[in-house]
Amino acid sequence: MKIIDIVKQDKLSLSFEVFPPKKESSYDSVEKATEAIAALSPAFMSVTYGAGGGTSRYTLDIARNIKDRFNIPMLAHLTCVSSDKETVRQRIKDMQDAGIENVMALRGDLTPELEATDRSKWDYRYAYELIQDIKASGADFCIGAACYPEIHPESATQWEDIDHLKEKVDCGVDFLTTQMIFDNSLFLNFMYKIREAGIKVPVLPGIMPITRANQVERAVKLSGSYMPPRFKSLVDKFGGDPDAMTRAGIIYATDQIIDLYANGITNVHVYSMNKPEVAAGIMQNLSDILGKNFEGR
Ligand code: FAD
Repeated sequence: MKIIDIVKQDKLSLSFEVFPPKKESSYDSVEKATEAIAALSPAFMSVTYGAGGGTSRYTLDIARNIKDRFNIPMLAHLTCVSSDKETVRQRIKDMQDAGIENVMALRGDLTPELEATDRSKWDYRYAYELIQDIKASGADFCIGAACYPEIHPESATQWEDIDHLKEKVDCGVDFLTTQMIFDNSLFLNFMYKIREAGIKVPVLPGIMPITRANQVERAVKLSGSYMPPRFKSLVDKFGGDPDAMTRAGIIYATDQIIDLYANGITNVHVYSMNKPEVAAGIMQNLSDILGKNFEGR
């Protein structure tokens, strides 16, 4: 099933993101975790693509396994900046052969090794080029792409970032998912600006439940996301107690989702980090609060 057909409903639905193992020895534990998340029947699940493409096989293996065993619509991520055209062509074909209907088309981060090479020789510099190639391949994918309510770090201004986002969407993007946000007002403000700029596709806010104090530094470094003082105090207070921190992280994420729903947002993407207990905790809270207005799926 295509994600664009899932995100049209009025009831709140959640999707969960998982990541593939970095090495073969962790494959089984990752597979088990992703299956436990699938058993919660989210609206769809996404599987990230390892930077540099090193774990690309696992992305597809996990996506195919969940789709076949649980009948959950799957979104497979694909990055392009460290790939050549032939590799991308092959990945698109592999996804089609696996029956994956949704692709998250991304550029990928620029590593220092990559930046040291001659940019004019790269087959891909931006995500829009990948989207053009997916479209040109004739494959009938629903295409997702990334957006940044707090600006992509390489953009000088938000308007410049939004201009490039509009160009990207116009290449054939069906929906957008945001970088993780911890302050909903930044997302709502961003939505206003992109709608003004003529970007009309559905946008799924990305919520990352923080359940360990040491996750905070990494999450902020990777995303550049703003940490509200309210959230910082929570980490200061509970960071030393893993159980309490997990529960507090689930409550904070639930609170963000409820606030988004109250502001008219019905599809939320949760960076569930291969943690079924966290995904289940959020689902349970939402079901308690919303009753029949929350179907999960
Ligand atoms: P782009 O859309 O190409 O944008 C990158 C930068 O270039 C922006 O500053 C943009 O404004 C600018 N730009 C775009 N077009 C132009 C142009 N024509 N001229 C000049 N500047 C331009 N990374 C992974 O490795 N694997 C994953 O699975 C993964 N999943 C992600 C999922 C989500 C929801 C998000 C938000 C990010 C994800 N990332 C992932 C990280 C992503 O690869 C990085 O954030 C990367 O730096 C940018 O990717 P992009 O597709 O947004 O790039």
